[in-house]
Amino acid sequence: MNTLLTKNIWAIGRNYIEHAKEMHADLPSEPLVFLKAGSCLEIDSKISLPKWSNDVQHEIEIALWIDESLNYSHISLALDLTARDAQSKAKAKGLPWTLAKSFTAACPLGPWVSLAEFSSLSPDALSFDDFSFELTINQNGVQKASARDMIFSPQRLLEHIKAYFPLAPHDVILTGTPSGVSTLHSGDQLDATLWHENRKILSCHWDIV
Ligand code: ZN
Repeated sequence: MNTLLTKNIWAIGRNYIEHAKEMHADLPSEPLVFLKAGSCLEIDSKISLPKWSNDVQHEIEIALWIDESLNYSHISLALDLTARDAQSKAKAKGLPWTLAKSFTAACPLGPWVSLAEFSSLSPDALSFDDFSFELTINQNGVQKASARDMIFSPQRLLEHIKAYFPLAPHDVILTGTPSGVSTLHSGDQLDATLWHENRKILSCHWDIV
């Protein structure tokens, strides 16, 4: 299912220890939330990179879709594409990251899978520990993690966002990326897989054109 309506994209920075280290960044003591424009979501598998950046990097992340009761009800994988050169410039000057994170098609998204399939418990009681994911580029593994490696669990992220922000039905939460980010190039073929325990539940393919 890829036709769910979507609205805001609440993204989380530095939610995996090894990624914070590769960014030479401090570990957060509470979730680091930033926005990507909702209109950045891209369901086409062909991705054009912005011409003004020489360093657009992949960040594969577990994505969660928020239902009418403000709980997550669906899971997918998304690429939080980041123009690292623009982000580094903005960081150095203390300016916002908007250009680095919210350019056209900056959030390629896979199909949604209902979480009800994995638990008869209410969504907030569901354990994410058995979900894991991997990204390959041209068949070489680049990013791989288990959701149990997150510094802040999806439950904690949801509570935090609800406490501070106007979370709305149909919003998307990006739960942060593990280590292994690198620059994308025209012609790259990206394949992402989501597992629950040993079962493959989702595969995504993207071509960088
Ligand atoms: Zn990210």
